[in-house]
Amino acid sequence: GRTIRLILGDQLNLQHRWFTDVDDATIYVLMEVRQETDYVLHHAQKILAIFAAMRDLARQLREAGHHVHYLAIDDPQNLQSIPANIDALIIQYRATAVEYQAPDEWRLDEQLYQHGRRSRVPYLMVDSDHFYSTRNQAADIFAGRKQWLMEFFYRQMRVEHRVLMEDAGKPVGGQWNYDAANRKPWRGKPAEPSDPRTLHDHSSLWKTIVDAGVTSFGNPKADQLAWALNREEALQQLDAFIDKALPHFGDFQDAMSVNAWRLFHSLLSFALNVKMLNPREVVIRAEAAYHAGHAPLAAVEGFIRQILGWREYVRGVYWAKMPEYSEKNFFGHTRALPAWFWDGKTTMNCLNHAITQSLEQAHAHHIQRLMIIGNFALLAGLDPGEVHRWYLGIYIDAFEWVELPNTVGMSQFADGGLLATKPYVSSAAYIDRMSDYCKGCHYDKRSRIGDLACPFNALYWDFFRRNAPALARNPRIGMVYRQLEKMDEAAVVDCQRQAQWITANLDLL
Ligand code: FAD
Ligand code: SF4
Repeated sequence: GRTIRLILGDQLNLQHRWFTDVDDATIYVLMEVRQETDYVLHHAQKILAIFAAMRDLARQLREAGHHVHYLAIDDPQNLQSIPANIDALIIQYRATAVEYQAPDEWRLDEQLYQHGRRSRVPYLMVDSDHFYSTRNQAADIFAGRKQWLMEFFYRQMRVEHRVLMEDAGKPVGGQWNYDAANRKPWRGKPAEPSDPRTLHDHSSLWKTIVDAGVTSFGNPKADQLAWALNREEALQQLDAFIDKALPHFGDFQDAMSVNAWRLFHSLLSFALNVKMLNPREVVIRAEAAYHAGHAPLAAVEGFIRQILGWREYVRGVYWAKMPEYSEKNFFGHTRALPAWFWDGKTTMNCLNHAITQSLEQAHAHHIQRLMIIGNFALLAGLDPGEVHRWYLGIYIDAFEWVELPNTVGMSQFADGGLLATKPYVSSAAYIDRMSDYCKGCHYDKRSRIGDLACPFNALYWDFFRRNAPALARNPRIGMVYRQLEKMDEAAVVDCQRQAQWITANLDLL
């Protein structure tokens, strides 16, 4: 009998073990379905890039001699849901087995598992051959612990996979983590490397998507789509990153500027998350650049920590804590997102810049996501579920397994501190230190009170005041509470009033 092998839109891994042999009895199936375009409102580039990359993979598989059944979004046979399409294909091909790679999202994992259980033909799930760690590894490592420190997990990964290790279990350079060296602002030098990505014209695919009734937001840039759409392009992008950006990655990892939107970041998250690139090859290339004397240890370690540490770790948190995790709301925040989250039109320069860039590029780098947008969302008491859906929709690299722990855990502290040791919030002082946003801003970064005061300031102090019962005993934020105690009563009340005005008028900011 024939076997159907399902390839999901984020499983575009040409090196998967499935593809080593060509077998006439195997039908590879890819499908563009409304189920996947519509579970949240997505950025136009995200839908377009995933479909274009799926089409490219189908082309390559056919060229290699495999049988491919591709269901395009406008195919009249397309039933627009994964289970319904599989059922129809089983009949069409008289298939006797269905195989799929382990989905990374709980939603799809559950759907395929439940559907497989009820199906007439057996379903078999195989590994996706992508990650360093297993789904349950973090849960095993942290069994019984209240706090799940990334650093603890990361060191185990370093040892287990022999990355940046000397013999005898010692880290290269004698130190595990060089984070403290990675906090420089960027003042224009060294110059930002040029964008390494290839431009594609996918206007006609974009028209097909729109005509099929799919709604989206953000700039589609359909005639100059810049994301890597196959492995070859992803590898070129990796080369350019290692060569030009990695040496400065460490220094400017947390910097932000109106004059440079990517700085020294790799822009590889899309290629990694749809599995065109394997994390091992990225890590190995970075490590080799250190040993060749091309990039300093602090930069290389910092970069590797993001991939071997954070990326694997958040995935482990996700599998350990789903499905409850998506409902977490430690502070009980319920406020709706202000309208400018969807068009960038706010007079706060930092947010205007970070959100406009996200709408244009479907990308913002980590510190923009964490310390501008997420920082504001938490201080303003926005509903973490709504914040989560916004992040899941807008970023090119947003797949729930990585987006949700970053948004709900790291950025909104909605899990009450499983992931983060303290809430990632700041007043204008931090933003001004790490960026040039405040210079061109309508608001005054130094003031707390008044029409022109930077909203971050009053919101910051009021956040800690109002959450004292939950946070004051946290030793990592003792300093904040000592400062708050020193403030006079009147100033605290003024901040409270100012914060109340701000949160009641978010749309006016
Ligand atoms: P670089 O700075 O070049 O980093 C290299 C790689 O490290 C990235 O490509 C990514 O694969 C990995 N990485 C870095 N930081 C993290 C992290 N915190 N968690 C997991 N992997 C990381 N990343 C996503 O891939 N998808 C998301 O949906 C996502 N949502 C986020 C939401 C919030 C609120 C925050 C604070 C962060 C989020 N991140 C997410 C992490 C990070 O911001 C992006 O991975 C990064 O900005 C991607 O750009 P880059 O490839 O240029 O990264
Ligand atoms: Fe952002 Fe405040 Fe600085 Fe303006 S002054 S850019 S609102 S931090």
